[in-house]
Amino acid sequence: MEPLFTPEQLAEIHAYHQPYYIRAAVEPFVRLALLLLLLGVLVQPFYRLATAAAAGLERRLGFLRTAPVSRAFFSAMDRLWGEPGWGAAVIFALFTDLFVTLVYLPVDVWFSYTLEHRHGMSTQTPGTFAWDLLKGRLIAAFAIAALVIGLFGLARRLRHWWLVLGVPVALMLLVSSALDPYRGRIYFDQKPLAEGPVRERITGLMKQADIAFADVMVEETSVASRRLQAYFAGQGPTRTIVLNDVILKELSEDEVLAAVAHEAGHVQEPKWPARIASSLALVALLFALDRLLRLSASRGWFGTHRFADIRSLPLLSLLFFFVMVTARPISGAFSREREREADRYALRLTGDVDAFRRMLVKAARVNKMNPEPPRWVVLKGMSHPPIGERLASLPPP
Ligand SMILES: [Zn+2]
Repeated sequence: MEPLFTPEQLAEIHAYHQPYYIRAAVEPFVRLALLLLLLGVLVQPFYRLATAAAAGLERRLGFLRTAPVSRAFFSAMDRLWGEPGWGAAVIFALFTDLFVTLVYLPVDVWFSYTLEHRHGMSTQTPGTFAWDLLKGRLIAAFAIAALVIGLFGLARRLRHWWLVLGVPVALMLLVSSALDPYRGRIYFDQKPLAEGPVRERITGLMKQADIAFADVMVEETSVASRRLQAYFAGQGPTRTIVLNDVILKELSEDEVLAAVAHEAGHVQEPKWPARIASSLALVALLFALDRLLRLSASRGWFGTHRFADIRSLPLLSLLFFFVMVTARPISGAFSREREREADRYALRLTGDVDAFRRMLVKAARVNKMNPEPPRWVVLKGMSHPPIGERLASLPPP
């Protein structure tokens, strides 16, 4: 078998990945330092700024409080929050997020635009790149506002808020993956795969695997990236097989089928243990938040006077940071095991080892995957086993 990469290609791949490894090693410490800076120094000035901004808005937009339609919104928010000040709380949270975003912005732009272009991975123009960035920030801002109002608002009103919030949110998470097919469309256009041999063979393969699906869609990601990509979104009646336009261009029919067979392997995974574990983890996390908020209020940390003061928000980010740092290596290990199992499943389903190997080789070449990333990078939480390992574990031709 010919080698996966020529020495020149391998050198380029290493040049491409090296900055990512440096970032992976440094980022946790930078994030920690930033959170400590927020907590130790910036909480009070940001809070004063947010209060002043909220007062300014109130002066200018106060008429909305009595206008016919917006009145209902304002009185609902006042009731939810239980006292004045929800505007300042939301603005404080948005300021904090904006600050962190701006600190990371140069590095983020360098990685996702400059480096990707340097290695021919991205096809985005500055305009589309900026627009995607903005879209992401707007979605995040909306989520932050909802979190502040929902979490802090509820925590102020109910003693067992962590249970009242945790149980329904955990239940929502269980069904939310049914909505996945619509999430992808925020960033890319999708259209149904045209009738023809590829669609026919995918339909046949899914019948053989006994997996029901709604449609096969083509996601037009080539406007942004040169990467190959395939995934299943949704569940049961909403399950959609999504192939990007690059995969259809780069892979032969057999190889597309191999990729779909791998994704079908993920459908067969036992989902309930992970779902139940993450639901329990969520309720436990909210309980820990409750304890932390109570401690912060009783000690008067960061100028907080009461339970669920918005100034304790960065403290919650700190807790979340530690949870993620410890959870990622564990969830990565589980994910890599699921990927190995999906590979084995795909081989059983199609019986075509050769096409599967070619599919992995092309994916590695087009996506410029490092066949042997440093071990610590894998253990830190890579979702897939290194491509070299996946190829090596295939049965010999
Ligand atoms: Zn997979």
